[in-house]
Amino acid sequence: MADKSIDDTRRFATMVAAKQGWELNPDADFTDSLIEGLTVNWNRYGYFLCPCRDSDGSREADASVICPCAYARDDVAERGHCFCALYLRSGFAAAGGVPGGIPDRRYS
Ligand code: SF4
Repeated sequence: MADKSIDDTRRFATMVAAKQGWELNPDADFTDSLIEGLTVNWNRYGYFLCPCRDSDGSREADASVICPCAYARDDVAERGHCFCALYLRSGFAAAGGVPGGIPDRRYS
C-alpha cells in the first residue's frame, strides 16, 4: 500500500466532509494534528485508523473505526461532531458550537 502524504490525507478528509455534508473542524492546528495522525496510521497500518483510537490488532477488528468511522454519522447528527471532532455538523461552529468530549460508541 503506497504511503500517503499529509496533503493526500487532507484531500481525503475534505472529500469525506463534502460527501457527507459535514465540515472540517475550523481549528486549523487541531485539524492538522488529526490529519497527521490519520496519515501516520495509514502509513503504519494501511488504512485510516481513527487518530483518536487504538488498533485492536487487525483491519477486521478495526473495521468500525476506519475513518469515517461507523459512529460518525450518529455522533455528528446528535452531538454536532464526530468522536475526534475532525468532522462537524454543517453550521455547528458558525452557530457557536464548541466540540467537547463525547462517549466512544465503539465498545458501548
Ligand atoms: S471519530 Fe470517526 S470520523 Fe472522526 S476522525 Fe475518528 S474515525 Fe474519523
